[in-house]
Amino acid sequence: MDITTRLQLLEAIRRADQADAAHTAAGRACTRATRAAADALEEAQQTHADCGRRKQAAQAKLRRTFAAARTANRELAALYAPHARGRATGGKRRSDVAAGILDELAAMPPEMIQAADALVIQSSAGKDSLVMLHRLATWAARAGCTDKVVVVHCDLGDTSEWPGVRELAQRQAERYGLRFVAIDSEGGLLGLVEKRGMFPDATRRLCTSTLKRDKANVLLTAIVTALGLDRQALIINCLGIRAAESPARSRKLPLSIDARTSNGKRLVLTWHPIFALSDTEIWQEIAAEGLEYHPAYDALMPRLSCVFCVLAGFSVLVRAVRLCWALGLPLPEQYTELEARIGHRFKEQYSLADVVAEAARIEAAEGPLSWSRGDAIRDQLGEAAAAAYLERLALAA
Ligand code: SF4
Repeated sequence: MDITTRLQLLEAIRRADQADAAHTAAGRACTRATRAAADALEEAQQTHADCGRRKQAAQAKLRRTFAAARTANRELAALYAPHARGRATGGKRRSDVAAGILDELAAMPPEMIQAADALVIQSSAGKDSLVMLHRLATWAARAGCTDKVVVVHCDLGDTSEWPGVRELAQRQAERYGLRFVAIDSEGGLLGLVEKRGMFPDATRRLCTSTLKRDKANVLLTAIVTALGLDRQALIINCLGIRAAESPARSRKLPLSIDARTSNGKRLVLTWHPIFALSDTEIWQEIAAEGLEYHPAYDALMPRLSCVFCVLAGFSVLVRAVRLCWALGLPLPEQYTELEARIGHRFKEQYSLADVVAEAARIEAAEGPLSWSRGDAIRDQLGEAAAAAYLERLALAA
């Protein structure tokens, strides 16, 4: 074998080795691709099967809800037909029918109270709750239904509320011999902020839903269970909301169906019995009836809300800080410390530290806050009304 042939053979061996290696690599790649294709196919089949099951479930639910809606509408039409004077109840008419019936009911409190299985009065112990409680207790007593009334107070604790609120709510209820239930909201507003790392605000009012509404709703379930009825219970849930308080509140209705809390076991109506009253009318009724209100009002706090309510304006918050100082409460320090720790301001426009600084400035110029019993009525209705109120309170003591 000559040298040229030897070299040609070596080159041929190199090419054969390279071709074999390329073939082996291609074979491995082909195996991998085949496996991936099989996996993808299996996954796609699984996804397809899952989607198919979801589709079937959704279609079954669609059929069920269609049948339930048809039945409910037929029942409604049959029930309403004798009163409808030949008119159908479909579409928008249904909401009109509901609005008409709710208006009629709101205008007949004693009958409504009589028809209810339980009347739940949500009391903050504030001035609006107080007048609402007085009216409802009076109507319930006239209707002989005092035993079906329960006064519920959500206690947010002493890091959220003014001292004595819970005890006052209880005294207010007991004045009429009503059952009183306090619901503890562990941690209150301070705890909620600590947990979430931010303060609630008007658009995300988690404080009301988490600290009050959700807890009160649990109680509704317990009340219905305790009633032990073999039919749907009628629960009337009463709140001291007034149209004059804010544009948002003015858009609410005096009486409405609480669709979120109602179910087959209970029809829950939300009732705002003092919806149309003005601030002055509230204070007139408190004065005339000698109702016991919280002393924070005498320091001219407009609402008995949380001490530092996220909905309060700057001047009200400043007054709250000064009232804390007058009462020796540590809340301004606790809240500003929390604000600094979580790095989130009490309000977008200003911090609580700004509020405290303004309170200190006013305090330096005017001295500490002071007040006398009856100042709230004095401020709203004049000296004579305050004197008469204090006399009524003294006589009742
Ligand atoms: S009083 Fe104000 S801060 Fe307190 S729970 Fe209600 S909205 Fe929130």
